[in-house]
Amino acid sequence: MMTAFWAEPDFDAHECVQLVHDRASGLTAIIALHSTHLGPAAGGTRFWHYADPAGAMRDALRLSRGMSYKNAMAGLPAGGGKAVIVADAARTKTPDMLAAFARAVDGLNGRYITAQDVGISEADMVAIARHTAHAAGLPGQGGDPGPYTARGVYLGVKAAAARALGTDNLVGVRIAVQGVGSVGGGLARYLAAEGAVLTLADIDHDRAARLADELGAAVTGTEAVLAADVDIVCPCALGAVLTEGSIGAIKARVVAGGANNQLATGSEGALLRERGILYAPDYVINAGGIINVLRHIDGAGDDEINARIDCIPARLKAIWQESEASGLPANDVADRMAQKLIGRG
Ligand code: NAD
Repeated sequence: MMTAFWAEPDFDAHECVQLVHDRASGLTAIIALHSTHLGPAAGGTRFWHYADPAGAMRDALRLSRGMSYKNAMAGLPAGGGKAVIVADAARTKTPDMLAAFARAVDGLNGRYITAQDVGISEADMVAIARHTAHAAGLPGQGGDPGPYTARGVYLGVKAAAARALGTDNLVGVRIAVQGVGSVGGGLARYLAAEGAVLTLADIDHDRAARLADELGAAVTGTEAVLAADVDIVCPCALGAVLTEGSIGAIKARVVAGGANNQLATGSEGALLRERGILYAPDYVINAGGIINVLRHIDGAGDDEINARIDCIPARLKAIWQESEASGLPANDVADRMAQKLIGRG
């Protein structure tokens, strides 16, 4: 028997889930609004090919709830939402498809503000903005959020090093980065500039190799990277990489990276804690890009955006302190803090 959609654990009382299909362009998309308690639901659009429709829905719901928590913990006057454009195996993306998607966003009349995520470029955002005013992160409005996210993750990695390794001086600290795109690549550059010893991995092997050449880093396989013999591991590719199996093989003392939804089910936070691995809850450490959305909401400038990104380490420290005091995994502590902020605690 089919389970009611809203009884699925990932549904988590979403305020609204819109399924979009546009026959003319072939667009299939999901727009999930988890909460507008603190303001319009803000979160990026992902363009991705999924093995099955349930996977796309699960991704949209989990990402959307993640945005509610992320925006609340970043102190933003914004709720949480996320859109997924379901790509075909060849990842065909057309202007008509983006236009149809933008019209769907526009139809929500500002309840949802979209932005970039995996698979959506700045040029795609410009195309989307032709059909809706509810698109953030355009050129001249902070543009690509990746560099802001990378800076926040970098500050978070330093805070984690200070706590777990006793110093935030990264000279000689061995750090592995999984995924060297916009966020992971930017992070790797910050870390290299501080003298960290880097190991990089990407399914686009050439991309990893080019960056490794530039930064004097080593390259390893995309799965082996999580188990690399390093001090800190930074997952910066896709989600669900922290599983019972992968955690058992981690040699690092810290997991702190920019990818969304790193824990496969959420319960893996306890395993990390049991193994004495310090974990930086993903949506807290990777909030830099969404903080950029403030330009769209209230016209904030670079100084304010950067000042807010500078607060990420303090938020992480508060979570780690509470985790130590309560015995709860860091991700559960962060969730509880976020739920209180969005009126669901
Ligand atoms: P991106 O597309 O620029 O880069 C992702 C990189 O990961 C690509 O180089 C890709 O080849 C690689 N990759 C994909 N699967 C991989 C795998 N299994 N192993 C190793 N590498 C793999 O995307 P991005 O903007 O850098 O985002 C990366 C992650 O950070 C995503 O989880 C995204 O949701 C999250 N995130 C991004 C932002 C942002 O501002 N861009 C903000 C918050 C969170």
